[in-house]
Amino acid sequence: MKTEEIKSLNDQFIINTYGARKLALTRGEGVRLWDADGKEYLDCFSGIAVCNLGHCHPAVTQAICEQAAKLVHVSNLYYIEPQVQLAELLSSLCFARKWFFCNGGAEANEAAIKLARRYWVQKGTPKPVIVTAEQSFHGRTLATITATGQPKYQKGFEPLPQGFKYVPFNDLAALEAAITPDVGAVLIEPIQGEGGVRMPELGYLQAVRKLCTEKNVLLIFDEVQTGLGRTGVLFAHQDYGITPDIMTLAKGLANGVPIGAMGCTDEAASGFEPGMHACTFGGNPLSAAASLATIQVLTEPGFISNAAQVGLHFFHLLDKLAAEHASIVEVRGKGLIIGIEFKDAVAPLIGKLLDAGIICGPAGPNVLRFLPPLIITKEQVEQVVGKLAACLGELEW
Ligand SMILES: *Cc1c(COP(=O)(O)O)cnc(C)c1O
Repeated sequence: MKTEEIKSLNDQFIINTYGARKLALTRGEGVRLWDADGKEYLDCFSGIAVCNLGHCHPAVTQAICEQAAKLVHVSNLYYIEPQVQLAELLSSLCFARKWFFCNGGAEANEAAIKLARRYWVQKGTPKPVIVTAEQSFHGRTLATITATGQPKYQKGFEPLPQGFKYVPFNDLAALEAAITPDVGAVLIEPIQGEGGVRMPELGYLQAVRKLCTEKNVLLIFDEVQTGLGRTGVLFAHQDYGITPDIMTLAKGLANGVPIGAMGCTDEAASGFEPGMHACTFGGNPLSAAASLATIQVLTEPGFISNAAQVGLHFFHLLDKLAAEHASIVEVRGKGLIIGIEFKDAVAPLIGKLLDAGIICGPAGPNVLRFLPPLIITKEQVEQVVGKLAACLGELEW
């Protein structure tokens, strides 16, 4: 099918939650994508931080094919070999000792919210309230839009579940004041992705950890976007010398095969007993095998550190560009999660970049977001920044 035909069927048969789009991408290889009309693009979005290894990575493709020929799905009424291997591997790579698998980020956060509430009930001291940050993003289910500190995602879906309150990101005093005796958990992204690629200030995350420990509150890190190498380390919090009690993952976990995960300490895991939570597809043989292969590639020596190096080069070039363009307010981020805040709305710029063969996206109205596959090269990054400069010129920005 050509783009026009796909678009026409979409308009007839797909509920219009995503609005009008320009392209139908039909093939990918590494950092490159092709649309239905054969035009080539350089991918700087990775399907929103999903295809971190690049498109159709051979090791993941092989794992998917082999597992698909062996066993695609059995329920969690039975033990699942790739799932336990995945949990063991993830445990060897971070603080978490126990895992629950599901299908995506919102479900992983739902699991974390449920676990935090049950944990304090089991302890005999119910503390149902969860504190989250303004401008956060935690998903699109009813509980996770409520956890999300952005009213635009909540509007019209009332009544919302109770028991959430919000504090400004990077405001420690506000957090301290918000942790009243009914608060059982703090849920935050180590770097806010969707909300504008907002960085934690120096010492903020460490202070949040300290406060949660002092006030006897569980700390949940939503690493759905920042996890799996995106920030130049395997999990973003690992650069801050602290660990949460619970962490959620999804996006990059299986390089495009749907899977989500909640990992936690042994202590936090004691909040769930048999029958309290479940997920039909969660960690099934196919998604778990794809995830295992993904993490094996990701943790090969030099893979993530190379991405961090390329990220530094990207920031260096963008900082130079920002110095030459008054339209750029700030360049933010870490590793290969990059936000460029502009004075104006970025939608026309994203359209121009697309015409120039560069795929990227927004993070709020005024922030351009780059989330390239971690295999992007310095030369490709130079190409992207060159095209960005040209587009800014055309827009007279
Ligand atoms: C994308 C995202 C989610 C939601 O993940 P879905 O798989 O779309 O449900 C949650 N938290 C963060 C930080 C995200 O970036």
